[in-house]
Amino acid sequence: MQVLILYLLIWFTGGCFGSFLMVVGLRVPIHQSIVFPRSHCSTCHRTLRFYELIPILSYLIQKGRCRNCQQRISILHPLAEALTGFIFLYTFHTYLFFPKEGLFIIGFISFGIIFIISDIYYQLLPDRLILFFFLWVFLGRLVIHPFPFSIYLFSGFGFFSFFYLLYQFSSTPIGGGDIKLFGIIGLLLGYDLTLVAIMIACLSALLFSFPLLVSKRITSKHPIPFAPFIFFGTILTYFSQDIVTTWFMLGN
Ligand SMILES: [Zn+2]
Repeated sequence: MQVLILYLLIWFTGGCFGSFLMVVGLRVPIHQSIVFPRSHCSTCHRTLRFYELIPILSYLIQKGRCRNCQQRISILHPLAEALTGFIFLYTFHTYLFFPKEGLFIIGFISFGIIFIISDIYYQLLPDRLILFFFLWVFLGRLVIHPFPFSIYLFSGFGFFSFFYLLYQFSSTPIGGGDIKLFGIIGLLLGYDLTLVAIMIACLSALLFSFPLLVSKRITSKHPIPFAPFIFFGTILTYFSQDIVTTWFMLGN
């Protein structure tokens, strides 16, 4: 019972943090302060009260609408909150005895959620945030590196250069922000796992966009944001890296 309460508390804390990440992802790209103005309805601009800011619960109680103007609230809000909650819980459960690595992971996933929101809403990955993300991963890898640090460094530099050249000399519809992300993920995962992460990202993006392309809900001129798929691939690869590594060894 106590364990259950503890887990619920961690999930809830994660949810509150997810709510904060959502605010960062929505405001930083358009140069707004993350503190002021306080959270408000984007339609009627009424400031939200504390009981309207409870992760997930507020959304459910209000049936997904603003209490004042009845405008629909994006499902991304409770989704980001629930997801961050589960990631907090999973990380706590898995890395209980490796607090440094747990913190490192929570950090990079938090950046991931901010970038996903920013890419979905503005098709933009702000340079300021990318710089902080790079510093977090660089310092984290400097402290925690199962393989020599130089391998991660080469991998990061390699992936960045490869995608930069691809961007310069081909018509691949890949954004400048995505190139920097690939470099940072190369630094995070090392070269073999990064390849797996990119593969998962491309496959999932293809599976997601194919039905939308066929039904003409999107066109090839308006590509879907890629950052959500990059982070999906990266986080999945990170959490299953033991399985992936074994699979690689079997192939050799
Ligand atoms: Zn409203």
